[in-house]
Amino acid sequence: MVKGIDRFSLDGKRALVTGGASGIGRAIAEALAASGAHVIIADIDEARAREAADALGGNALHLDVTDQAAIGAAADHVAADGALDILVNNAGIVQNAPSTEVDVSDWQRVIDINLTGVFLTARTFGRAMVAAGKGSVISISSICGSVPVWPQPQAAYNAAKAGVNLVTRSLAVEWAASGVRVNAIAPGYVATPLTLKGRETPEWYETWLRMTPMGRLGDPDEIASAAVFLASDAASYVTGTVMMVDGGYTAL
Ligand code: NAD
Repeated sequence: MVKGIDRFSLDGKRALVTGGASGIGRAIAEALAASGAHVIIADIDEARAREAADALGGNALHLDVTDQAAIGAAADHVAADGALDILVNNAGIVQNAPSTEVDVSDWQRVIDINLTGVFLTARTFGRAMVAAGKGSVISISSICGSVPVWPQPQAAYNAAKAGVNLVTRSLAVEWAASGVRVNAIAPGYVATPLTLKGRETPEWYETWLRMTPMGRLGDPDEIASAAVFLASDAASYVTGTVMMVDGGYTAL
């Protein structure tokens, strides 16, 4: 029994969380640290990243996940202090616009951050993990990667998250023999700054609650628990999965 519990411990592991200055990423950073990991928060908002990192005894890094050169420099910087065991690709934005009107530059920005950013970060940090023969990569997808949510229009976001699901499964297959596990978490609606507009728009919010069997939004900590599991040795046979954490939204 004690042996089983120990497999959830992250003692001695090093983790990096993109977009860890706010919302779900911050909760994941806190949970990984509480489970014993040393956490590096990498965010485009450096001041908030530093404040979050200070609160959990970790480090902060300025990082824009669309900047390939910066991701390479960050990977070198992190590697100089030792191997990275856990990478959480969490940085993301949402953009709501009807598809008949969406500006292609807005479409592209969502794809750049939410999909290409996940791929670039995973493959750049993944190189050292593959070479080391160990590591856990966790990407924060969404229920929107499996079903087009309603009533807010967001085709780019939905397409990007569907892409994250297949990048996750593709990398899991490519890296399985090397010992690097690659998984995604697909949250339903969670109370963070990203969902503020929807929570303040009664037609959206009422629909969100009605379509979620548990009848409520998730708390960021409820997403973080899944990340701790996937990061830990307790998930040693789990790779290529997209874990729904959605109050039953996609069960319908
Ligand atoms: P949030 O807005 O609270 O946090 C997003 C963080 O990402 C911020 O700290 C922001 O500074 C950072 N960020 C944005 N662009 C970046 C970039 N280019 N490079 C680095 N960092 C960047 O949002 P959240 O709700 O915590 O979302 C976190 C992740 O969870 C996103 O991928 C989002 O799509 C996903 N998600 C959220 C929900 C939800 O209901 N909140 C549901 C499903 C999935």
